[in-house]
Amino acid sequence: MDNRLKTDGITAITNIRIFDGENVINDKTVVIKGSHIQAVGGKVPVGASVIDGRGKTLLPGLIDSHVHTDFEGLNDALKFGVTTEMDMQGHWPIKKRKEVADRNDIADVRSPGMGITPKGGHPTQYMSSSSLLIRLVLPFVFRFVQTPEEAVKFVDKQITGGSDYIKIFIEDGSCIGYPGLPVLDDQTIRAAINEAHRHNKLTIVHATTAEATKRAIDAGIDGLGHLFFDRSPSPQLVEDIASSGAFIIPTLVTLSSAFGNNAAWLANDERVRSKLSKKWLDALSRCMNVYPQGKLEEAYTTIRALRDAGVDILAGCDVADPLPMLGGLAHGASLHHELQLLVAAGLTPNEALRAATSTPARRFGLTDRGRIAPGALADLLLVDGNPLTDISDTLSIHAVWHRGDQLAAI
Ligand SMILES: [Zn+2]
Repeated sequence: MDNRLKTDGITAITNIRIFDGENVINDKTVVIKGSHIQAVGGKVPVGASVIDGRGKTLLPGLIDSHVHTDFEGLNDALKFGVTTEMDMQGHWPIKKRKEVADRNDIADVRSPGMGITPKGGHPTQYMSSSSLLIRLVLPFVFRFVQTPEEAVKFVDKQITGGSDYIKIFIEDGSCIGYPGLPVLDDQTIRAAINEAHRHNKLTIVHATTAEATKRAIDAGIDGLGHLFFDRSPSPQLVEDIASSGAFIIPTLVTLSSAFGNNAAWLANDERVRSKLSKKWLDALSRCMNVYPQGKLEEAYTTIRALRDAGVDILAGCDVADPLPMLGGLAHGASLHHELQLLVAAGLTPNEALRAATSTPARRFGLTDRGRIAPGALADLLLVDGNPLTDISDTLSIHAVWHRGDQLAAI
């Protein structure tokens, strides 16, 4: 089904407030030609179709820096103005990526393919059910890594298969309801990171404890896929993260769900309800509740400390599948929720919006997006109101453009 409006000509969006990925700028007009932004400011070209954006704010298409996705997830994401999803472990062979590149009715994706984990390590515990099929297939899906030599081989194979970056798991299960999971040793983690860097690829770690985070930082990791939540960090750990140059994707919505908060209020918001299927609304209405002793206020304090230390913060939600044990999350909608939690943590709305636009574009090397500027991809989100003063206005979606095509009927 083609649910797009084709815009072969020139479109001018006028009288808008423009957040260009960094700040609100003085210009009030954006001109789209084909798949790209032709001009910001200036006169409306003769013959352009004009959209009057009075009372509205134009943002770069949002980037969710932590998801596990498929075509359905990419489709839902785009309805919420999320024009790029950064998969953090998934099955994205070259043929599927080509289809994504050819379709403007789903969000774009980047992926590491499968992540590095030892035999029996996270996240395979979610799949170790009694199903014989799963137990037989699992070792082929996850090529488990035990040694530095295997890590190097794994990374080389991933990169040959088209991985955009490398994902590493350091998860002992203590904070996610599966204590005692096996974890990689330091030499193996270091070997994986060094090999990825030899290929100029970023490395992102899944770590949920301060200790695992410290091990990843000491080994030279480029990005933290979660905020650790087993304890508040020492000032030294904050300093170590900052001086390493690593970025963090706090995934506060996942922490919130792990701490026992569902997002039923979000599922009941008409702006969300109208865009998601029942199974995803049901998933969003549940929560994981695997770490009920966790406190969001403590996470917020850590976020502010990292922000003040100069650590780049990227917005990501860690949505995967609509399973009860992964509840509280939905593609697209949860990134807007994450923006709200980043603001609750103490970021300004401007800082939160950077975390979903220019900052991930810069950190992941996505030079064609995350900004509203001449020559950038026309990945755009037009919302009613002003998210710079009320971040929840990002959900008041009026229109979405992906590579210049306007998504219809959202
Ligand atoms: Zn994840």
